Amino acid sequence: MAKRVHNFNPGPAALPLPVLEQMRDEMLDWNGTGMSVMEVSHRSKPWEAFQAQTTADLKTLLGAGDDYSVLFMGGGARTHFALVAMNLRPKGAFAEYAITGNWAEGACKEAKKLGDAREIFNSAGTKHDRVPEPGSLKISREAAYFHYTCNNTVEGTEWHYVPDTSGATLVCDMSSDFMSRPVDVKKYGLIYAGAQKNVGPAGVVIIIIRKDMLARSAPDLPEMFSYAKVEKEQSLLNTPPVFAIYAVGLVAKHLIKQGGLAAVERLNKQKADLLYGALDASGGYYRPHAQKGSRSLMNVTFRLPTTELEEKFAAEAKKAGMEGLKGHRSVGGMRASIYNAVSLESVKTLVAFLDDFKKRNG
Ligand SMILES: *Cc1c(COP(=O)(O)O)cnc(C)c1O
Repeated sequence: MAKRVHNFNPGPAALPLPVLEQMRDEMLDWNGTGMSVMEVSHRSKPWEAFQAQTTADLKTLLGAGDDYSVLFMGGGARTHFALVAMNLRPKGAFAEYAITGNWAEGACKEAKKLGDAREIFNSAGTKHDRVPEPGSLKISREAAYFHYTCNNTVEGTEWHYVPDTSGATLVCDMSSDFMSRPVDVKKYGLIYAGAQKNVGPAGVVIIIIRKDMLARSAPDLPEMFSYAKVEKEQSLLNTPPVFAIYAVGLVAKHLIKQGGLAAVERLNKQKADLLYGALDASGGYYRPHAQKGSRSLMNVTFRLPTTELEEKFAAEAKKAGMEGLKGHRSVGGMRASIYNAVSLESVKTLVAFLDDFKKRNG
């Protein structure tokens, strides 16, 4: 048995062990082809069947209807900060953004370069420790779309409700909580997510797009930038990132086997409750960054009394087999990313370490 750490990396991040084992077992001969999945043609029957099955499995998990298409594209989520604006915001129209963290700000910045993008919420004044109160946003009906980032990976906050847009198209960057909980897909015009947080390796972005959105892609867009064109070619306009899609396909099967997204969410809640519970019970030694109503189930951010203790905490945790606990460079502190593939056992190990470290350094 290979030595495996408790992996709290923010992304790329932990993948389910059974999926990794299957990938290992299939490495030299995928699906009876006598080739690895990296060596088959993306235009071959076995690949087309696999990609179609993966699409169907993702739609089943999400409960997405026939009025939605699934696209597999490259460029990372970050490329889609621009592509969303290029495709969904007609010339002369404006879009609205909620700035709840580093990634949301990045998305808005790109949209501003290309046209009219308006901030209607910004939590920078409180270091992005919260998302808007339910019902507090005033989204314009006339906006081409409203964009939000439902899980703020860096700051550790998450929207626990879907904002009411009074009819404007809803667009969401779900990169870091995609497939961690059930989603009411029909409320969205477009969802996008980089795979490497919760559902696979880096290299593929999954787009869930309502088909009526496709008419907004202007014909003069470069074809690789056009959601309509990529959809028309069923994500085979160019060579798609086959290995990353393959991994996503195996993860989707794994999630179905676990009982679907409701079961996945139950376990994620259990993990997050355990960890926040331990932080809250520390008498202020560990200070969670996020306000209570905005706490992320995926990225748990917290501070220690001093930056020296934070350095020590990260170093000792690493020695004890826990990887990736240092916070993002822009905010400091600690961050435990507890995505789908991070086991309850890993979280229990971290909780025991929290208690022990405090006893020794309190
Ligand atoms: C990681 C992340 C991104 C950036 O993803 P890339 O695939 O590296 O471009 C964007 N948005 C959110 C919410 C993220 O967590």
